[in-house]
Amino acid sequence: MINPNTPTDDFDWASLEDHVTPDGTFTPPARRPSSGKDAKVVRFPCPQCQGTGKWRGGHTNQHGSSHCFACKGQGYFMTSERDRANARQSAAQRKTRKLADDRKVFDEANPGISEFLVSATWSDFCQDLLAKLNQYGSLSERQVGAVRSTMERSQARRDSWNAEREAAKQAVDLGPIRAMFETAVASGHKRPTYRAAGLVINRAPDHGRNPGALYVKTEEGDEYLGKIIGTQYSGKSVPALAAIAADPRGEAVAWGRKYGRCSCCGRELSDPQSVALGIGPICATKWGL
Ligand SMILES: [Zn+2]
Ligand SMILES: [Zn+2]
Repeated sequence: MINPNTPTDDFDWASLEDHVTPDGTFTPPARRPSSGKDAKVVRFPCPQCQGTGKWRGGHTNQHGSSHCFACKGQGYFMTSERDRANARQSAAQRKTRKLADDRKVFDEANPGISEFLVSATWSDFCQDLLAKLNQYGSLSERQVGAVRSTMERSQARRDSWNAEREAAKQAVDLGPIRAMFETAVASGHKRPTYRAAGLVINRAPDHGRNPGALYVKTEEGDEYLGKIIGTQYSGKSVPALAAIAADPRGEAVAWGRKYGRCSCCGRELSDPQSVALGIGPICATKWGL
């Protein structure tokens, strides 16, 4: 039976004697002996210093040493350049994997944080933290807390904007203005015009640049103010639109009484019924007023 510890003939036992000091102490060879019969090693010259171990030009480098930084002054490596490159690559891959694992753990423990940081392009603070998160795979509790309060503030701001927008929409629901113009068109008017509250509103034909748009002008001076597409007004602020929308017939009648003319067709109110009503009865029917 062969003892696995039995030395083979390949091993040079005599070389061990090189490591016995005169007083009889045995100092085994270092892991990578630089000399000796057992120094069966291949050295790969350092490409940075061409094997000299000295920093080029003889000056001290940024670490205050004249030694080559790459090989620590040795002038050589015990591994080939390719092995070193492979080792670096494996290390980089391990690091990338660890970063991804850490990030996964962080994201699971802190739902919504990553997504918020990515979306918060308006905040330098958040972009800073996102860079740190990408670099380290996680954030400190303190940083997470800061992100959470930013998220809350941002949500509160968004809620208040939405509320304002909702309120603005409700304040000026132009549906009734739209409705009377569509009724007029359905009654056969090609380009109905309505006058009231210091405004002249005219509906664009269905074929054209802004089909069905309601153009809003001032009555005096014929100044263009804006237009209503559907029920959405865009243009200069015109509070009178809200008044008209709130009471289309009332504003038409008020205008008719003031000028003695019909708000819808502009003709003089002559017959007693029209004068009494403040609006032409046929127009009122056709416009649904
Ligand atoms: Zn070197
Ligand atoms: Zn009329």
